[in-house]
Amino acid sequence: MVAEIISGNAISKQIREELKQEVARLKANYNIVPGLATVLVGEDPASQTYVGSKVKTCNELGIYSERHDLSADTDEQTLLALIDRLNKDTKINGILVQLPLPKDINENNILLAIDPKKDVDGFHPINVGKLMIGEPDYLPCTPHGIQQLLVRSGVETEGADVVVVGRSNIVGKPVANILMQKRTGANATVTVCHTRTRDLYSHTKRADILIVAAGKPKEITAEMVKEGSIVIDVGVHRIGKTKEGKNILCGDVDFESVKEKVKAITPVPGGVGPMTIVMLMTNTVKSAKLAAGVV
Ligand code: NAP
Repeated sequence: MVAEIISGNAISKQIREELKQEVARLKANYNIVPGLATVLVGEDPASQTYVGSKVKTCNELGIYSERHDLSADTDEQTLLALIDRLNKDTKINGILVQLPLPKDINENNILLAIDPKKDVDGFHPINVGKLMIGEPDYLPCTPHGIQQLLVRSGVETEGADVVVVGRSNIVGKPVANILMQKRTGANATVTVCHTRTRDLYSHTKRADILIVAAGKPKEITAEMVKEGSIVIDVGVHRIGKTKEGKNILCGDVDFESVKEKVKAITPVPGGVGPMTIVMLMTNTVKSAKLAAGVV
């Protein structure tokens, strides 16, 4: 068996088109323009690239964007003052603080300062709690993207044995939480594994849907997966450069061997990666609608 490839490139493109139409509808019918503010502290090249792509995607979709690039020596009070200003700014529906922040700034203080209504990353404890009780306003972007990859590829989650490898607050825990909810596109039986899991193999081997966010290159090999299962690989690792100087990437799954055994798998790159930004845009549009009371 050679696996079907679940293409995040194709699915994210489809969602972008839907969002573009929705943004145009909001403008035409209600004169609403959703707005996203990005906040970057310091000059980390990877963070600059991420922020750049978010701004570019806003422009493509017709979402207003405002970029706040602050120097690496910015103190916490200055950053909190900016967040406060953005919380009050009616043009802004979403505030995205690019992580990680410099070590002298307490990340938690910053995330707590963002108005939960503008927390389009879905990291504020209010939004984490709302997700937990099954009444979310915003789902965190990467986990929501994973759910969309499954749903839009026609993968049945209801009653499925889902095994998540990883329990981080940004991927493992929220994706488990989303997929265990009593609702369409979820209703799975979820197991979460981590470094203290006694026998990882025994869990991964019985998964109908295996979601891997371990942060270790090619950690999951063919003998660890069930034949005919679905594998979602969240990991991203730079493992070298091509002759042309382009990064060579791999995921947490040994794609080449695993794809021979499973029913469907996400590639790296082009799988989960492209979904994160579009789900951020989805949340920004949703925030604008919630703020205006528009459905
Ligand atoms: P993280 O914070 O490092 O968490 C990794 C988790 O995996 C931890 O819970 C850890 O367990 C667990 N783990 C590590 N090795 C394991 C093993 N051998 N067996 C079982 N569990 C193991 O990572 P993260 O932030 O969730 O990110 C995971 C990966 O996804 C990274 O490669 C990251 O770059 C990528 N990522 C991609 C996107 C995207 O948009 N594509 C977004 C976010 C993250 P303990 O808790 O016990 O330490």
